[in-house]
Amino acid sequence: MIETHQQSEKLDYLGFTLDRWQALLETLGEKSYHAKQIMKWLHRPLRGRFVHDFSAMTDLSKSLRSRLAELGEIHQPEEHDQFVSTDGTRKWLLKSRSGSLVEMVFIPESSRGTLCVSSQVGCALDCSFCATGKQGFNSNLTAGEIIGQLRIAIAALAPLYPDRRRVVTNVVMMGMGEPLLNTDNVFPAVNVMMDDLGYGISKRRVTISTAGVVPGIEKMCGTTDASLAISLHAPDNELRCQLVPINRKYPIEDLLQVCSRYVRHLGEKRRITIEYTMIDGVNDSLARAAQLSCLLRDLPCKINLIPFNPFPGTVYRRPTMATVRKFQERLVNDNYSVTVRTTRGADIQAACGQLAGRVAAKTPSRASAQRNAHQIATSEVA
Ligand code: SAH
Repeated sequence: MIETHQQSEKLDYLGFTLDRWQALLETLGEKSYHAKQIMKWLHRPLRGRFVHDFSAMTDLSKSLRSRLAELGEIHQPEEHDQFVSTDGTRKWLLKSRSGSLVEMVFIPESSRGTLCVSSQVGCALDCSFCATGKQGFNSNLTAGEIIGQLRIAIAALAPLYPDRRRVVTNVVMMGMGEPLLNTDNVFPAVNVMMDDLGYGISKRRVTISTAGVVPGIEKMCGTTDASLAISLHAPDNELRCQLVPINRKYPIEDLLQVCSRYVRHLGEKRRITIEYTMIDGVNDSLARAAQLSCLLRDLPCKINLIPFNPFPGTVYRRPTMATVRKFQERLVNDNYSVTVRTTRGADIQAACGQLAGRVAAKTPSRASAQRNAHQIATSEVA
């Protein structure tokens, strides 16, 4: 049976992995080697442009092209708006199938370009310091909408960086949403990003970031070898429950245990990233640094400190740089590798945690978003 995309009733081709293409071709009675041809057409721009329909795929028979066009579509989000920061950071507002707007950010650096993509419209987890969480959950992005973000970015950026062989060198699932509550779409999308027939991005440079959905990390163990970042933000359960409510369901001990399993699964000297958003007077004391150091003792990890980025309506404040540096030093003294994330794109509200998009109609109230988070988390366990 051919499974189609629920809303459009058409197959969502941009999110198809090689295996999925081969299975579809087999069902259609076609040769499976066409899968590689189709992947190349879909994910490699031709003279700077990606294909948007099957007519260009001249090495496929006309009958196969028309059959594929009947069954599915090459759908990517619609570009609604674009903003450019004085520091070169770019933010796109993109329209998803649901009609809501999600955000994507590109952060250029001298030797790399990082694309921060969204996995959901809104977010059910309601972390107390995150703008996306304030909107509640609206819907999952499809695998094709996640890959579509990468296509949009590459098409727009390649002409701006003509001397770079590859303009997007890193992808982080750190935009709107919780990727591990949308694994059916995120895992195939990540697979296509890392596949040489897709975008060929190294597994070390594709990162899934999670607030700590333990069953999702368990699932990663058998499914992917992408990099993993954990949004920890607190070294004990009491404080973490206040900042990251999903900690009530999956406490720190369970989270670190599954992280150790994932690092073992990755092998070959790979480490997990621990993200720690520093909030003035909340989690930024040297005592917290000492606690964190003790907690992470046995986990192969590096630590990324993110000074809090304010957004309208928040009660939190960013600590001084001196406080951040002292916290960093404390951890470095214990031999951790610790980076401080520089704030990029603040003038266009593109920094971590500032992404709000425009989540339409279906947005539930905060109370129902919390119920939703609970239900989703429960269904992940089942
Ligand atoms: N849901 C995923 C990915 C989205 S957020 C996760 O929780 O990891 C990406 C990162 O930005 C996370 O580490 C998140 O905790 C952090 N973040 C969210 N709001 C922030 C803010 N206002 N200031 C700084 N970092 C923030």
